[in-house]
Amino acid sequence: MHVRLVHAPLAVPGLMHDFRVLLSRRSTRSLDAAEREDLARAQLRATRPIVSGVLLCGAVLMAIIAIFELVDVTPSIGYPVWAQVLAALGVAACAAGVARLVQWQQRLVLVLAGTLLTGVFMSMPLPGATGQLALRTGLFQLLPLALMALMVRPVSLLALALLIVVMAQLRIVLHGAPGTGTALYWLYTLTTIGFGLVLAGYRTDFAVSAWQMRRRLVQQAHTDELTGLLNRNGWSERAVALHAQALSAGRPVAVVVLDIDYFKRINDDHGHDGGDAVLQRLGGIMRARVGTDGCAARIGGEEFAVLLAGDDAVSAQAFAERLRNEFGKAQADLVATLSAGVAHHQAGESLREQMRRADLALYEAKRDGRDRVHVAGVS
Ligand code: GH3
Ligand code: MG
Ligand code: MG
Repeated sequence: MHVRLVHAPLAVPGLMHDFRVLLSRRSTRSLDAAEREDLARAQLRATRPIVSGVLLCGAVLMAIIAIFELVDVTPSIGYPVWAQVLAALGVAACAAGVARLVQWQQRLVLVLAGTLLTGVFMSMPLPGATGQLALRTGLFQLLPLALMALMVRPVSLLALALLIVVMAQLRIVLHGAPGTGTALYWLYTLTTIGFGLVLAGYRTDFAVSAWQMRRRLVQQAHTDELTGLLNRNGWSERAVALHAQALSAGRPVAVVVLDIDYFKRINDDHGHDGGDAVLQRLGGIMRARVGTDGCAARIGGEEFAVLLAGDDAVSAQAFAERLRNEFGKAQADLVATLSAGVAHHQAGESLREQMRRADLALYEAKRDGRDRVHVAGVS
């Protein structure tokens, strides 16, 4: 774990933030706050079954020790078998809770409760009964070690480490350090925390790189390389989502379908690279023009689509005219024009149906001589 000093004043509201900075990994520093939060949520989801599984292992371990005591395989540390079985059930309940809960604070409480219960019944003897305490304490430390490796939030990591330290101190105050001496008990504790931090750090780095790779792949799968707009795949997801969002909010939605006129000729006269440059220019204009309410995509070779919502949808025709004008003026060494079809949403219409009407309007624009915008009629 890479630790760095924090010079910010330790104001109480900033305390959590300071802990986070103190315990943050180098690999996560390249991410902004929203990305870090997204990553943390993904990690919390991903580690839920394994954290629950580790707690369940703790419960099973306690139950096995209770059975060992019952059949005299191992000496007792004072607790009746029924109490140990109850405690094991309590830890199993914590495991079940972790498997269901999504909030990290609730999960932390269950992890701490499970660790405390296991620690007490495995390594905190009742007065006078200290049989195999060192061995049991060592065995118990495996649980917080595994849990530390799985903690996502630095605050959780810190809380778990604190609990282990407090329990170690309490054990020594209450029972001394039979068998091995105080130093070895502290060595147990510090080894658990040290290995726990190393493993948690490694797991975090791994999670960051997996998350970044996934994000890159998703972006690549949704983006048209040449223009930087959405590709057909990205359009299918984003436009459908925006369409549904706008309709459920009762906002108007419009679709504009655009096609470059006589593009084959541009390719023939200026080469494929010249054609590509024209496509890129249109992509740049569209990216600059479409706001966050809408989205733009290259859905075919020289065919593009835009989804507009709200006020932008109401003035969709003017939007298409602006694109057409800007595109015409943007060409330095060649003449290129654009035709467009606009369709405003009709009640009950799906995006696919709306696009089909926009396509028909585009076809009319082409038929009427190109370099123009047509608005689809009511069908
Ligand atoms: P219209 O006005 O009727 O739309 O005529 P058009 O020539 O633009 O239409 P058509 O669909 O016949 O031709 C589209 C051309 O776009 C054919 C294809 O070679 C070219 N094209 C498709 N993808 C790319 C690309 O990525 N780069 C380049 N440079 N050309 C492409
Ligand atoms: Mg064309
Ligand atoms: Mg075409």
